[in-house]
Amino acid sequence: MEKPTYQRVLLKISGEALAGAPGRGIDFAFARQVCQVVQDCVRHGVQVGLVVGGGNFWRGVKDGGGRMERARADQMGMLATVINSLALQDVLEQLGQPARVLTSIPMGPVGEIHSQPAADRYLREGKVVLFAGGTGNPYFSTDTAAVLRAAEIQADMILLAKNIDGVYSADPKKDPGAVKYDAISYDQVLADHLQVMDLTATSLALENHIPVMIFALADPQNILRAVMGERIGTIVEE
Ligand code: UDP
Repeated sequence: MEKPTYQRVLLKISGEALAGAPGRGIDFAFARQVCQVVQDCVRHGVQVGLVVGGGNFWRGVKDGGGRMERARADQMGMLATVINSLALQDVLEQLGQPARVLTSIPMGPVGEIHSQPAADRYLREGKVVLFAGGTGNPYFSTDTAAVLRAAEIQADMILLAKNIDGVYSADPKKDPGAVKYDAISYDQVLADHLQVMDLTATSLALENHIPVMIFALADPQNILRAVMGERIGTIVEE
């Protein structure tokens, strides 16, 4: 079997990507495709931590803004990420792939409270670790949670699977002259305000020297291509 380039990765999937066409809820057929590729990565010897967003159910600012207190609306968002993590754990286990949900907020029977040693142990055991509940704090995003967990588990790379196939010089939907970058530095991302992750997540990744690969989830095989070292999408590094 071919050897992967990256031994330990943090895969971030947005909630919306799991929702399929309706934009809400979970498209289980698609979730299964994604989980099959994740399992394939594990079979290649890659340790996979997974952070899934919650936007297919609830986003604090967008859905609660003006109607709810922000911190409480964000707590709803964090709970949405737990719902998605449980769904993916179930799909992975249906495929025969052991997976553990670690929650940033204590919630007993739902999942074990997150700790770095537990995550490290499960990853070494070949289990997929689903980091649920974001950072556990309001005013943060799951992109920031992904970078935080990537730093904790010392991931070689953050794989940011999105609904766009990389980082562009401008919004390709609005500007036909937008150019896709193959590789770009964090400094340029920050200087040009390029849409990769939010500012908090970007600076945390930069400070901790963690490269990020951005690619389209529409073809889930991209996850395997990425861990095998194919230069797909855009790589952001120092
Ligand atoms: N959230 C939060 N703290 C975190 C992570 C997430 O408060 O550390 C909340 C926030 O309200 C956010 C929602 O959870 O809008 C869903 O996360 P996100 O928007 O990052 O999901 P995605 O866009 O990736 O689906």
